Amino acid sequence: MSGATLLKESGPREVFCGLTSIVWLHRRMPDAFFLVVGSRTCAHLIQSAAGVMIFAEPRFGTAILGERDLAGLADAHEELDRVVNDLLARRPEIRTLFLVGSCPSEVIKLDLARVAERLNGELQGRTRVLNYSGSGIETTFTQGEDGALNALVPLMPASQEDQLLLVGTLANAVEDRLKTLFNRIGISKVDSLPPRQSNDLPSVGPGTRVLLTQPYLTDTARSLKARGAEILQAPFPLGAEGSRRWMNAAAKSFDINSNLVEATLEPLMARARMALKPYIEQLKGKRVFLLPESQLELPLARFLHEECGVELLEVGTPYLNREIMKAELELLPENTRVMEGQHVEKQLDRVREQRPDLVVCGMGLANPLEAEGIATKWSIELVFSPIHGIDQAADLAELFSRPLHRRELLNKNLLTSV
Ligand code: SF4
Repeated sequence: MSGATLLKESGPREVFCGLTSIVWLHRRMPDAFFLVVGSRTCAHLIQSAAGVMIFAEPRFGTAILGERDLAGLADAHEELDRVVNDLLARRPEIRTLFLVGSCPSEVIKLDLARVAERLNGELQGRTRVLNYSGSGIETTFTQGEDGALNALVPLMPASQEDQLLLVGTLANAVEDRLKTLFNRIGISKVDSLPPRQSNDLPSVGPGTRVLLTQPYLTDTARSLKARGAEILQAPFPLGAEGSRRWMNAAAKSFDINSNLVEATLEPLMARARMALKPYIEQLKGKRVFLLPESQLELPLARFLHEECGVELLEVGTPYLNREIMKAELELLPENTRVMEGQHVEKQLDRVREQRPDLVVCGMGLANPLEAEGIATKWSIELVFSPIHGIDQAADLAELFSRPLHRRELLNKNLLTSV
């Protein structure tokens, strides 16, 4: 374990809820539908977060229960059945229907697992119905993906076969590239969860080695382990060095000669180092503060420090799974302040006191900080962008250097107009 200082705080939080992950999950599995059982607030959140879908046939919707004058739970069950039946009659191509729970008390009282079980009985395999919670009381935004993937694990077929399973949503092009690289170093069977079609689930069993592509999949990893899979310890594939170590962890578990891996990856590493150069010039020595939101904060901090020469003032994370994050914690510099949880007021006080060059934070905090003259980067943008793998290292660095460049231009304009 590194000399990072692990701290905890709790209090008011300022993070998106787990419903947000529907935005990238519905793109990944076009034959699935995400039905939020929630209030008008929930409907507004996913409609504005996924606003682009207005031009396409939507693959998410909201059964609004919170604002109805419900006489009792029986009415809520009837209402939900009606919405589901209407939806499936209109959209028979839906193969998997996720019922996604939310915060309103009417919804919390509903046992969505039992609703799903009942509907599965009625539908007799025409559409599979699963459930998970995206409630803001229980989840931060990336944990919605953990809930959805965890719901899929019991449906995965069993297999004894030696295989590598990449777990966590990646951009399709990035995933194809990574699979090609794994094939080139000699790992021939590489699958992924979530799959591109929700009913085309990969298999799992004692021969399965799992490489997590995202750090927020605690429950999914636990369930895969319970199905016999081995969860490989590795940093996450963010940045050139992180991605190289991530691929090496897989190669090691398949007893692949490390010289072959290095020979395959070295041309990519050389290209990444070249592409990173202009961004390192801009980022080197900059003081960065990461507020907790996506759970990507530790791998991002490691990348920013190790490959871009950034000074880390504080690295927040909504939750710290020490087992999954072990390799990342070991790579952080001595005395890095890692803060698990959030007391948003106290954290903002520390930001104002330290005046960082850049704050990585949620959208709700970015505007006020920008107004105070502090450059910000939205955490959510890092979740939506294709940032994984050696080839994407420069694009990842560019996402951090862009707000600094913008702030420099703003400051110059302000100076000339004085
Ligand atoms: S925080 Fe709760 S009420 Fe608000 S959008 Fe998320 S699930 Fe709905």
